[in-house]
Amino acid sequence: MTSRPARTLFCPECGKETSELYNNRCKECFLSNITLIKCPPVVKILVCPVCGAHFTAGKWTRETDRREMLFYEIAGSIRMHPDATHEKLDISEEKIDRSRCLVHVSVSAVVSGLDVTAAADVEIRIKNETCDTCSRIAGGYYAGIVQLRANHRLISEKEVDRCIELADHLLKKLMEKGDRFAFISKVEELKEGVDLYIGSATSCKQVCRAIIRELGGSYTTSPSLVGRKDGEDLYRITCAMRLPEFVCGDIVAIRDHVIEVTHQDKQIHGTDLIDGQRVSLGADTDTPAVKIGSRKDATTTVLVAIEEGAVQILDPETYKTILLKKPSFLHEKSGSEVRVVRTNGGLFLLPEVSDSGC
Ligand SMILES: [Zn+2]
Ligand SMILES: [Zn+2]
Repeated sequence: MTSRPARTLFCPECGKETSELYNNRCKECFLSNITLIKCPPVVKILVCPVCGAHFTAGKWTRETDRREMLFYEIAGSIRMHPDATHEKLDISEEKIDRSRCLVHVSVSAVVSGLDVTAAADVEIRIKNETCDTCSRIAGGYYAGIVQLRANHRLISEKEVDRCIELADHLLKKLMEKGDRFAFISKVEELKEGVDLYIGSATSCKQVCRAIIRELGGSYTTSPSLVGRKDGEDLYRITCAMRLPEFVCGDIVAIRDHVIEVTHQDKQIHGTDLIDGQRVSLGADTDTPAVKIGSRKDATTTVLVAIEEGAVQILDPETYKTILLKKPSFLHEKSGSEVRVVRTNGGLFLLPEVSDSGC
């Protein structure tokens, strides 16, 4: 039995004796010859001065963190040794002036089973350029219009403010999710309401749905052809948003009911002021609903007496006693003050606070 002696090898580059060759060289020669990374001395980055987005891989992206953006750009511009594995990249930034910085790059990796490190400096030059989103906003670009209106009445300023708040909130979320045209480029006030000019057509519908979720109402859409681009028809969309006719606190007569409205969707929901029951009723041409008053016009009067199923109250204008059916929400004792509202259908007692607190 003979054991095989370790082979003696010679490095063809330096002639030294070695037990192992790496890529046909001794370890020292291999390490001194290897180029782990190649990186350009200067990397130019386009950054939008308005929103901070930066241009990379052919498109604008919103990087929240500057370091993350630098890391991304450096990693993208470095060429790593083709046999490198287990690469680790670290950067540290040194500011030169307002538009330039030096980034110290250090890389470690494994090549042919050996740990290899490398370091390099890359100068970053930041160039300001307004991004596609910001230039479209500035240019008043829009792909759709949301018309804020109310059914059979004028939309209130408060409602418009809330609609814009809801739209802003939603569009910000959509923008974060990657719809770079989810923005309002113009708010136009008109006699009949307010028009929101929006950068992306799909977000118009989502704005309407967000408004409906909170304020009720409905919307219809209509596209209009505005031209052709690259052989395709270009459309803009108009969303006619209609807030409900009746708002919280409205007193509405429908069939033989008088309702204090809490909200309206496809139906009118509220409290029947005659008997105090909660009701939901649909209005249509056969059973129209008519506004006959509002909680805003309520006054205080005295509950004179309570009888079985009926109450007597003092008419606050004529001081005559009036007999009304006792609504189930009335728990006050005789002699107490109660809230009433005058309508062209007579006086009605109101619950202490309306159900939805409006
Ligand atoms: Zn050697
Ligand atoms: Zn921008």
